[in-house]
Amino acid sequence: MSCLVCNKFLPDIMRFRAVEVHTLHIRDFDGERIVQALGETKEYEICTACAEREVQAVLFPKKRIMLKCLPFAVIGIIGAVLTLLLTVKNIMPVFRAIGPIAFVVGILGVVSKVRETLRERESVKKMSHDEAVRHCAWILVVKNAPKKYGDNDITYIPVNDSTKAMTAEKLSTEFDLLPAIASKVREILT
Ligand SMILES: [Zn+2]
Repeated sequence: MSCLVCNKFLPDIMRFRAVEVHTLHIRDFDGERIVQALGETKEYEICTACAEREVQAVLFPKKRIMLKCLPFAVIGIIGAVLTLLLTVKNIMPVFRAIGPIAFVVGILGVVSKVRETLRERESVKKMSHDEAVRHCAWILVVKNAPKKYGDNDITYIPVNDSTKAMTAEKLSTEFDLLPAIASKVREILT
């Protein structure tokens, strides 16, 4: 096996086992419901170099914040421009609302992305170096492993000491699992 990120075969590699859960969102007249099924248990590998790079990106997130915020900043700016343009013209109020709404969506998006990135930075900062590398390697597994199985979304549940210690209820809330699936995952983790 090779590193999931850089594809290199390296001796310095961390191996992760993960249980897949497939979730299908069904929208019908009653609203939305989900159907879940247990997938395979697979192994993924991440090399130390890729994990170290991820730790640095999390600890010094300036570039990442800019990239994550860019789409929302663009929406906000378009919103601000529309707000200014549409107030000077005689336009139906329903259209006049588009500018301010886009502006607010943009600002809220930027704030939430900055918060999310800084929260992640704070939690990694508190870890020891080895913990941080392992934590970031797992983040890379989730980011780079397939996200879809047909129309189903894939959730990855790591097989480690922390998940092994969880009850079915805890697994259910932590990973958004239906109770029956959480019990099955619990059995696999034992
Ligand atoms: Zn790598």
